[in-house]
Amino acid sequence: MSDPRHYVRVALPLPLDQTFTYAVEGGPLRSGTRVLVPFQRQERIGFVVGQGGEKGVKHIRTVLSVMDSEPSVNESQMRLARWMADYYVTSLGIALKTMLPSVLSDTSRDVVTLHDGPRGKLLPREARLVEALDSGTGQSVRALRRGLRMGSIWPELRNLAAAGVVSVETLPPRPPPVKTERVVRIARWIDDIEELNMLVGRARRQADAYQALAGSGGTVELAHLTRQAGFSRAVIRGLEEKGLAVVEDREVERDPFADIPTGKDQSHTPTDRQLEAIRTLVSAFDAGPTKPFLLHGVTGSGKTLVYIEVLSHVLAQGRGAIVLVPEISLTPQTVARFRARFGDQVAVLHSALSVGERFDAWRQLRSGRRRIAVGARSALFAPVSDLGLIVVDEEHDGSYKQSESPRYQARDMAVVRSAQEGALCVLGSATPALESWHNVERGKFRLVSLPDRVGGGVLPPVRLIDLREARKKTKEKKSKETSDARSEAGVVLTAPLVEAMRDRLRRGEQTILLLNRRGYSSFVQCRECGDVEICPACSISLTYHRGKSRLVCHHCRHEQPAPKRCPRCGSTDLSFRGLGTEQVERVVAETFPEARLARMDVDTTSGKWSHHEILGRVERGEVDVLLGTQMIAKGLDFPGVTLVGVVNADVGIHLPDFRATERTFQLLSQVAGRAGRGKLGGEVLIQTALPEHYAIQAALTHDYVAFATRELEERRHPAYPPMVRLVNVVVSSPVPEDAAGNAEAAARWLRTHVVSGAPVDLIGPAPSPIERLHGRWRWHFLLRSASVKSLGAAARRLQAEFRTRGADVRIAIDRDPSALL
Ligand code: ADP
Ligand code: ZN
Ligand code: ZN
Repeated sequence: MSDPRHYVRVALPLPLDQTFTYAVEGGPLRSGTRVLVPFQRQERIGFVVGQGGEKGVKHIRTVLSVMDSEPSVNESQMRLARWMADYYVTSLGIALKTMLPSVLSDTSRDVVTLHDGPRGKLLPREARLVEALDSGTGQSVRALRRGLRMGSIWPELRNLAAAGVVSVETLPPRPPPVKTERVVRIARWIDDIEELNMLVGRARRQADAYQALAGSGGTVELAHLTRQAGFSRAVIRGLEEKGLAVVEDREVERDPFADIPTGKDQSHTPTDRQLEAIRTLVSAFDAGPTKPFLLHGVTGSGKTLVYIEVLSHVLAQGRGAIVLVPEISLTPQTVARFRARFGDQVAVLHSALSVGERFDAWRQLRSGRRRIAVGARSALFAPVSDLGLIVVDEEHDGSYKQSESPRYQARDMAVVRSAQEGALCVLGSATPALESWHNVERGKFRLVSLPDRVGGGVLPPVRLIDLREARKKTKEKKSKETSDARSEAGVVLTAPLVEAMRDRLRRGEQTILLLNRRGYSSFVQCRECGDVEICPACSISLTYHRGKSRLVCHHCRHEQPAPKRCPRCGSTDLSFRGLGTEQVERVVAETFPEARLARMDVDTTSGKWSHHEILGRVERGEVDVLLGTQMIAKGLDFPGVTLVGVVNADVGIHLPDFRATERTFQLLSQVAGRAGRGKLGGEVLIQTALPEHYAIQAALTHDYVAFATRELEERRHPAYPPMVRLVNVVVSSPVPEDAAGNAEAAARWLRTHVVSGAPVDLIGPAPSPIERLHGRWRWHFLLRSASVKSLGAAARRLQAEFRTRGADVRIAIDRDPSALL
């Protein structure tokens, strides 16, 4: 007896390390097809990942609906998803969901209805839920959860539903939004003018409209015909009635970058150095699968032109490409450079795109109508077929690592994907991640260098200004003799920096000022009792924001009014300490009242396109001083900037994290690289209290290799990446004992079952440097190994076999962590 049904294995986007068997009526389903399936009491979108049922599964349920005619995930994407799930210790379903535009995995929508009648005795959490429903029944579970902020409410909903207090109903997911426009299309083609005239009779305008339609290929936007061409709706209706034309909806694809001027194609003739790099990369591409390349080019060495030339070669061979850039570099400047050269071949994947716009870009790439994807981290998953090239620009950038599950590193996945698909991989930076540099040294990557700036430009000279001396002087003199610009926090701009800025203002040149800390002051302390205001949910001091007169937590965004007196002892003697950009802004405005000043940090760029707007003003010369956090250090190319001032280079250098020094060096080098990009030349002034520190010394001489060599030495003892690999396991809970206890238990379990005998060390557990975040207490331990395999195996066993105890305990497994905070 043969069963007429087919069985498929489905991966669900849930943290479950298994697939599920479902039956399908009708034909078999290809791998990668999305299906709507019943799961527990919900309907969920899953992905077909295999054929045939697992053995011994009882009560097989049936697929509710098949959501794709063509699989949404093709074979190569499936392979990449499997790698991602395996390496980053997540489920295949979550990996697949991560790779697709969100509309395609919109979870089913569950709506809760509150019934009248007796409610019986409710537990506190249930009562809160019912109360929320009282104020508006028929709410979606998702909205309720957001509003209530009490974590998962499914257990309560289930209890309430069982008691008949509420009912939960699932609405089917919305189809992906497709934007349409009204068009008029010729329904019947008539070539003979005489025949047309006969058909329309005395309605001459109808003949004109018909011919206008025919002249534009048979289909024209309705609005165009009525507005621009001036045909009335009645004329078009006439054509419809005669069966000559139809009015219908046509899908349109949105392109939010369509309005951005592409500028002129400033395709320079490559310099000899650039040519050499281009030739090396092109011949590696032509020769077939090859090791990844690290393009190490100093700031202003013209890396973009190299990418563009290689890209155009790849395209000419009929293959596609992905270009990853840090989100912040997705400015019209970058986009325009690629669009100027490749026009409509480019699909830009920007976080400011709406859900529908993202989906459109995805479809354009998938259908091959566009061959180049340019975008931030997740553009790595773009469905470019026949992939020939992946470029990762500013490959050291922190934004390539996703901070939530799946905690993937797009740079590493670019290497994996290009290997899987036989594409060339080019990682470019002036300050490569030490991992990449180490890979060059080990022969895993090939190195291409651009040691000089284009056009005979030189790297700007850097001067260090010792803040300790400036502070001492201020104390001694306590007078107006120095021209330091000061504030409550002490010296903000030293005399030499003030002088240098004044020079620029006089000459009409531009200055960039960096301080990598936002807000006005990073903590408020009582001078009487020493109390510091801490976030109620995090173990982090609250930052004073003067503009809105509030204290803000930079991690969870908690806000409260700025205090007038100490909440502990009532003293009014409060000191606002730790300089932030808001305070620098004020000092600059007071020192140079005539200067046109722009501040760029998270607080001034909350609007979707606001940083584009600020950078546009800088580009047009409407800004004299651009002040900001690390946002302004990346990729900007403004020839009018002749001075870069670093207000305090030491911010972050002492963070308890093994990458703190590397980050400091990268930030200083990158921001220094913004100076002197034009004919005018430029200089860099760095204010620091640690002038002898090797990171700062290396920035002084623009010496990446010296820095990398020294820092790699530092990472040997104690061993840190890239000398070894790490997994950071963070155990968190609202109950401090649960966090500590489970961390201890997990570590003990690993030591007994996994670590002993395997080449893996376990370090810890201990409280995380940030002990409390978003109301959760955090403990962590590290798994450390030189063996990628053993490390992966240990992490996977922990995930699959260790069970936590307690109500709300979470274990986050962060492989190749970018920070241990
Ligand atoms: P990088 O990314 O290496 O810092 P860019 O690619 O931004 O450098 O190039 C720096 C500047 O040099 C840009 O304004 C670019 O237009 C210009 N440029 C690049 N290549 C050439 C060239 N061969 N001749 C003249 N100008 C060039
Ligand atoms: Zn006090
Ligand atoms: Zn907080």
